[in-house]
Amino acid sequence: MPPIEKDTGKNELKTKIQKLIDSNQVVVFSKSYCPYCIQVKDLFKELKIEFNVMELDLMENGSNYQEMLLEMTGQRTVPQVFINKTHVGGCDKTMQAHKDGSLQQLLSGEKEAYDYDLIVIGGGSGGLACSKEAAMLGKKVMVLDYVVPTPTGTTWGLGGTCVNVGCIPKKLMHQTALLATAIQDARKFGWEFDESVKHNWDTMKTAVNSYIGSLNWGYRVALRDKNVDYVNAYAEFIEPHKIKATNKRGKETFHTAARFVLATGERPRYLGVPGDKEYCITSDDLFSLSYCPGKTLVIGASYVALECGGFLAGLGLDVTVMVRSILLRGFDQEMANRAGAHMETHGVKFIRKFVPTKIEQLEEGSPGRLKVTAKSTETDETIEDEYNTVLIAVGRNACTDKIGLDKAGVKVNPKNGKIPVNDEEQTNVPHIHAIGDILEEKWELTPVAIQAGKLLARRLYGGSTVKCDYIHVPTTVFTPLEYGACGLSEERATELYGPDNIEVYHSLFWPLEFTVPSRDNNQCYAKIICNKLDSDRVVGFHYLGPNAGEVTQGFGAAMKCGATKEHFDATIGIHPTCAEVFTTLEVSKRSGGDITQSGC
Ligand code: FAD
Ligand code: NAP
Repeated sequence: MPPIEKDTGKNELKTKIQKLIDSNQVVVFSKSYCPYCIQVKDLFKELKIEFNVMELDLMENGSNYQEMLLEMTGQRTVPQVFINKTHVGGCDKTMQAHKDGSLQQLLSGEKEAYDYDLIVIGGGSGGLACSKEAAMLGKKVMVLDYVVPTPTGTTWGLGGTCVNVGCIPKKLMHQTALLATAIQDARKFGWEFDESVKHNWDTMKTAVNSYIGSLNWGYRVALRDKNVDYVNAYAEFIEPHKIKATNKRGKETFHTAARFVLATGERPRYLGVPGDKEYCITSDDLFSLSYCPGKTLVIGASYVALECGGFLAGLGLDVTVMVRSILLRGFDQEMANRAGAHMETHGVKFIRKFVPTKIEQLEEGSPGRLKVTAKSTETDETIEDEYNTVLIAVGRNACTDKIGLDKAGVKVNPKNGKIPVNDEEQTNVPHIHAIGDILEEKWELTPVAIQAGKLLARRLYGGSTVKCDYIHVPTTVFTPLEYGACGLSEERATELYGPDNIEVYHSLFWPLEFTVPSRDNNQCYAKIICNKLDSDRVVGFHYLGPNAGEVTQGFGAAMKCGATKEHFDATIGIHPTCAEVFTTLEVSKRSGGDITQSGC
């Protein structure tokens, strides 16, 4: 009976193909003229891997083979690559597997030996995004997160820096400070309230931390819902595919994975002067401090220092910022200095070109009293003063030195502990990737870590080729008057294109909300930098004013689309807003024209 014969023939062919797959380390079903097949065969030749090739176009029953392969693998096209009985797929999948290290792993026959497809070390912004995405793509994933307590014993829950000791508590405390200004403004708008206004640190701290607690819980639930195994333990490599996890009771467990993603983030750096670890705090301690810090010295002059100094002053505290060199290194210096000048007019004191040499305790307490000695960076001058709290904000160290990277063979820049990666976040060890703050020469921002983690998982497990774009990343410094930026600083644009090839348009502006309370006139400032060699494309966007994050976000999208000055001019503003200033920028810096706002 013909159908049975047909089935018998099919079964025989299937057995024959299966035998071929089972008895050879590498089998390539190919067509001799196909360029993708040639690419795959060349790869194996280059890797000096022996492979068995079946050129279907040169075989009498090649088309039957192709039909049967479709039935067996769901793929009709060639090449079709099998390694150690596993169907790798076509050319793209084979090249991808070579890139991510899984090809080598399959060749060594290790596939079945691992506990997980992916282990992510670090449950912060990047690690959580990556692990959830990989699990949603059907992979078996573990994420480990462990917080080493600060020298003063502060610790926190799942979610990493942003949620616990970064963006979230910082923005909420910044908002607390903005409310103080709103209360003052309110009287001018007719609100009458007699009682004296004061701030209660404990109420704010408790409210902020209970919100953080809800986020910690939410992350745990999300991991459970997505079937990610979460372990609250410190991870370190003991072999390239194996980690040791130590929990807070000291219990050790061991886990293996085909791939790893490092997302261990950073922790605050200390000064290395007497008394720093004993008596000072960092941002890791500030947001859950059990007492109001009182008169505070902030050491450092970048994001963390200016933001924390700014909101502490906004709460009414006596705040001094000690600056080693300049404000906000790497940012447009005109903008940085304007943000600093606004802080200064609102009561923040700056000690410039000094660094601390010693911190001594004068009195224990909550807060106590500390004596700080500092020396000038330019002269022999030494100064001393007393503070209740010293907040060190002099940068952060990558958490890469105690995670056994030497055992895995991962290269680290010895100067700063950062991990160099290629444009696919792959380290020098093909099966180990890295994302977030620990990357060399990348932005240290939450959305960047999240985007990199998510896209990495999609490339590794979802067949995507989309890479994280680190160009034109918008950012905001939440100083009391917020500073939003995207693209190049004026200094960098001048350096890149030459002073004659850029045109800078700028304006001061007075937010309508500030007019009735009659405050901060001519302190808000907008500036764009255009590349004259490229149709006046906007290469730098800078905004100093209220809600800078909200304003900058949308212009960031416009810059991604390649917006030019003409596009900005053709955009109709929303009135009355601050952001509309960018649709009416007419005065170029070169012209020296008047930039004070002349009304609507
Ligand atoms: P993290 O979020 O730091 O997560 C790393 C996690 O890994 C941590 O939980 C850590 O404890 C854990 N870990 C480390 N080693 C191990 C190990 N061996 N085993 C297990 N777990 C380990 N960014 C913004 O975009 N906007 C802001 O407004 C902003 N404000 C900030 C304010 C402050 C005060 C600070 C300090 C940072 C701020 N940032 C802000 C930066 C942002 O928090 C980081 O860029 C972001 O958290 C980086 O994410 P990540 O995944 O790389 O690391
Ligand atoms: P940072 O940007 O690395 O700046 C370190 C600051 O400390 C600089 O002002 C530096 O001065 C100073 N400093 C370094 N060593 C010093 C010393 N020994 N004595 C005195 N001053 C010293 O560090 P950061 O502010 O901690 O920020 C870390 C990262 O977190 C940022 O890059 C940012 O991406 C992220 N972050 C983002 C936000 C946000 O998005 N709003 C907020 C906070 C943090 P010099 O200029 O002289 O070197």
